[in-house]
Amino acid sequence: MDITGGTKLIGILGFPVSHTLSPRMHNSAFNALGLDISYVPLEVKPEDLPDAIHGLKAMGFLGANVTVPHKVRAAELMDRLEGDAVITGAINTIVLQDGRLIGHNTDGIGFIKSLEEVMKNDLNNASALLIGAGGAARSIAVSLAEKNIKQLSIINRSRQRAEELADLLKRNFPALPLEVRTLDEANEDLVISSKIVINATSIGLEGDLKMPPLAVDKLTKDHVVCDIVYTQSQETPLLSAARGKGANTMGGLGMLLHQGAAAIHLWTGVDPPIDVMREAIEP
Ligand code: NDP
Repeated sequence: MDITGGTKLIGILGFPVSHTLSPRMHNSAFNALGLDISYVPLEVKPEDLPDAIHGLKAMGFLGANVTVPHKVRAAELMDRLEGDAVITGAINTIVLQDGRLIGHNTDGIGFIKSLEEVMKNDLNNASALLIGAGGAARSIAVSLAEKNIKQLSIINRSRQRAEELADLLKRNFPALPLEVRTLDEANEDLVISSKIVINATSIGLEGDLKMPPLAVDKLTKDHVVCDIVYTQSQETPLLSAARGKGANTMGGLGMLLHQGAAAIHLWTGVDPPIDVMREAIEP
């Protein structure tokens, strides 16, 4: 990749960022598109986030991605929020438009596009069981609600965070049937009644052999089990247990791919080269 005097920059703000696959994915896309844009990792401590975001503006960045732990604080620093970010109050993408900071959240649409590759058109009549109520779970819950799923059950370690997410959904999607439990309550009935099961917690990261306390013995070949933790191997304890029960599975790389593709469209207005991006991140 040639950096020229005219190269435009896009960054990813996170802490840490050393593990991220996004630079590889985005730089492959910009190369394939013949765009003079470079995507760089920017490790930013939480206390430095306001300076870093104003720095993007001062240095003429085209935009940025925002990752853990900055998604909520960054949303508060935007001039305007658009799309799902208005509901979730968290962003993963910044677009600089005429010197103004516009915050978007493409995580939910990334998850749905990835799920649709596995489920085709079955989404509308499906019930989903979502484990987790953090930033990523919020985006996924909002996007599932926008798809008019039949019922959403949320189970989370802390009841308070699960109920905050349920309140947000009740305000924005009053017709959506909801069930809220904690991780230490029984969940057999929810596994049986849900077609889609999603782990959106941080449990199951590479090297961590733990898995969410889920009634995996109730999984069948009719389930689609998603684990959004993305590992290089595409394997997590939950996914391998689910496959053992004959369930269809989906790892986190598809969500990463499609949230990134949606961000490229926001920054450049062009259609992203999905196959090139997929090849850049798949093992
Ligand atoms: P948050 O910190 O906002 O939320 C973390 C969630 O995990 C909370 O629900 C938290 O529960 C739960 N949790 C954490 N540790 C434990 C534990 N030991 N036992 C039980 N529950 C636990 O993180 P994010 O939502 O931003 O990210 C969650 C995961 O999703 C990360 O692994 C991240 O890498 C992945 N991700 C993947 C993406 C992709 O493109 N594939 C995109 C975005 C995120 P509690 O509320 O009780 O604290």
